Amino acid sequence: MALSRAARIILVGAPGVGKGTQTERLMNKFPQLSSISSGDLLRKNVRERTPLGIQAESTIKAGALVPDKMILRLIVNELSMRGWITDHTVRPYSVYSSSMSLGMGDSVDSVYIPSGLRTSKYNYSEHPSASFILDGFPRTATQALQIDDLIPINMVVNINTPSDIIIDRICNRWVHAPSGRVYNTTFNKPKVDGKDDVTGEALTRRADDDPETWKARLKNFKETSQSLLEHYDRLGVLWTVNGNSSDEITPQLLREFGKRFGALEN
Ligand code: AMP
Repeated sequence: MALSRAARIILVGAPGVGKGTQTERLMNKFPQLSSISSGDLLRKNVRERTPLGIQAESTIKAGALVPDKMILRLIVNELSMRGWITDHTVRPYSVYSSSMSLGMGDSVDSVYIPSGLRTSKYNYSEHPSASFILDGFPRTATQALQIDDLIPINMVVNINTPSDIIIDRICNRWVHAPSGRVYNTTFNKPKVDGKDDVTGEALTRRADDDPETWKARLKNFKETSQSLLEHYDRLGVLWTVNGNSSDEITPQLLREFGKRFGALEN
């Protein structure tokens, strides 16, 4: 289904709640959506042994949050690289001439990242092709303020699943690291045991998928997510969905997302 306007959405939920699964399903139904996962970006940097990855590795392994500045740098780079934000001070008006096609009536706004982080000015597009799901970022109210100043989020999905159900799932989770595809040996098995469905490559465990690490991450999530949700509730963009499994959550999410962003079909 096509989108009627740019969707800039965030999935919030405890670690292991199935944010990756919902992202994949939204993207299948709405192909104009792309995804950015802060955890995947960090893990890619760790795998490729970049200076940032080496610095972040032990923090990730411990289940703690990496510094805001580091994660914001990754997000700004990624959004810029995809052409969804444009550094106004470097290339004025370049958003109009970028590869992104802008239609009649599209608006381009300008924002600042707060001083101390970055002082450049950015443009962003309202065209449906500039639609994305941020997975895992922002995690705190501070990070939310940073992204608000960069590009405004227009839907925040709060995925609500009981903790005891999630821990059961974590113990059965396998991933295809290069793509971020996630499998579960009880309810979302790969076609061939231990192999990715698309590439046939080996699946691995995530380094932070052990119960003790998960408990530390859940504690972090509980401590930081409340103010994040309150922040977006105040902005009027928060939507909460309840369910014990991804399959219970998906139909509700697709319906609500379609209502807000789907283009009317003839
Ligand atoms: P995730 O795959 O989203 O669960 O992220 C895995 C790990 O990456 C987290 O436990 C954190 O150490 C780090 N991380 C990911 N996103 C963020 C963020 N927005 N802020 C701080 N740390 C993050």
